[in-house]
Amino acid sequence: MQLSNQLELNKCPHCGIDKPLFNVVAGPFSTEKHSGGNQRCWEAYNCRTCGGAILAAILGAGPDGDVTEMYPNKKKKGLTSRVYPSQ
Ligand SMILES: [Zn+2]
Repeated sequence: MQLSNQLELNKCPHCGIDKPLFNVVAGPFSTEKHSGGNQRCWEAYNCRTCGGAILAAILGAGPDGDVTEMYPNKKKKGLTSRVYPSQ
C-alpha cells in the first residue's frame, strides 16, 4: 500500500466499514529526528463514512514507497456499538 489520494484499506479502523473511502486532508509532510535521521513522509486521511482521521507514513522523504506505519492501525474492540451522529 502506498500513500495516494485515496488510501486503500479493507476496513476503516474507526467505524469498521468495508472498503472505506478515504481522501487526503493533510500532507504529504516529512518528519525527522533532530540529528536528521529516521525521516518519514506522512499523509492524513479522512474516512468519508465516519469522519475519522488516519495517519499513514512511509520511510524516507517520499512520496513514493510502501506504507510502513498507520495510526490507528486496526479496529479496536468495543467500537462496533459506538453510535456516530447522523447528518
Ligand atoms: Zn470510518
